[in-house]
Amino acid sequence: MVRRIRGGLRGKLFLAHLLVIAIGMVTLFVATLAIAPTLFDRLMGAMMGSNTPSMGGTMSGMAETTAQAFRSAMLQALLLSAGAATLAAVVVSLFVSTRIVTPIQRLLGASRRIASGHYAERVPTTDPDELGALAAQFNTMAAELEAAERRRVALIGDVAHELRTPLATIEGYSEGLLDGVVAPSAETWALLHDEAARLRRLVQDLQDLSRAEARQLPLQLRPCPPAELVDQAVRRIASQFTEKDVTLTTHVPADLPAVQVDADRIIQVLINLLGNALRYTPAGGSVQVRAERQEDAVTFQVADTGIGIAPEHLPHLFERFYRVDKARSRALGGSGIGLTISRAIVEAHDGKIWAASAGSGQGATFSFMIPIAP
Ligand code: ADP
Repeated sequence: MVRRIRGGLRGKLFLAHLLVIAIGMVTLFVATLAIAPTLFDRLMGAMMGSNTPSMGGTMSGMAETTAQAFRSAMLQALLLSAGAATLAAVVVSLFVSTRIVTPIQRLLGASRRIASGHYAERVPTTDPDELGALAAQFNTMAAELEAAERRRVALIGDVAHELRTPLATIEGYSEGLLDGVVAPSAETWALLHDEAARLRRLVQDLQDLSRAEARQLPLQLRPCPPAELVDQAVRRIASQFTEKDVTLTTHVPADLPAVQVDADRIIQVLINLLGNALRYTPAGGSVQVRAERQEDAVTFQVADTGIGIAPEHLPHLFERFYRVDKARSRALGGSGIGLTISRAIVEAHDGKIWAASAGSGQGATFSFMIPIAP
């Protein structure tokens, strides 16, 4: 809704200046008219009395005329200066209102255009005062809105893209089955089942992601020994390591201080990192889980001897749907948002997560840090 502006800041500023001048002038008039004649008479009297005591009546008539001339000259001067002061009020008001009103009008126009969807709108930030700071803050807010809108559009595109592949496979196979082109073998059913499972995983991940990013993950925080968290995660995924012939070892000192966590969520992060390590490490390789104390936090580390990550990809791994090799990740069952969810969970615990790798073919290490329980 656009609110109409009545009166306007410019008019108010002018009236304010005029009011200040008017009050000043009235005070000046009253004070001058009250004080000046008495002062003048007293000074004249003193001069007459001391200089020409003998001239009597002639001089008092002259003094009266002089006093009258003085009063009317003073009145004229006061009226003239009132006119000049009003003119000054107009000039100052024009100058001040242009300096104040123009940036505000620019902000108003820009916010209206942003509200109607033009997120690229920005305002100049040249004023060195509060108005400049307000404009800079406005631009930061506009940039945030623009980035959020871009992320929203990209997310819809990504989700549509992710849904298309399994849906196309399911559609293709079911058409083939209907037309009798595809044999209704156990292999076909398994394939259809896999694609449906992929869709279900994707929907689950998206739900987790939206909750985590909206900071709505209900966290049940309690102190938990790091060894217990690692143990539980390893127990749930160990069989998959044996199946693929990848060695999994853990080095977690039993005397590490407890961390303040929602155990299920942190186990979810560990399983995600372990799952990735397994996915991107060829048979015969190895994965190590470590945990160690660092000042007021415990750092968990999952290091593998797998395909590694080239340096240019490292800063993007935690972005939604970012994959170094899309086809490979998809073929291996990845949804491309596991690390984004992990980051949201770790950050909800006031922690930090990061990745390191010496490069392609050199293995990768994912670490995250959680504050110890108070
Ligand atoms: P995905 O489901 O595709 O694995 P993630 O968000 O978990 O999605 O990971 C994002 C991308 O990071 C992966 O597609 C992969 O390219 C890269 N990545 C993650 N973990 C590893 C790892 N241990 N070794 C090499 N690359 C990895």
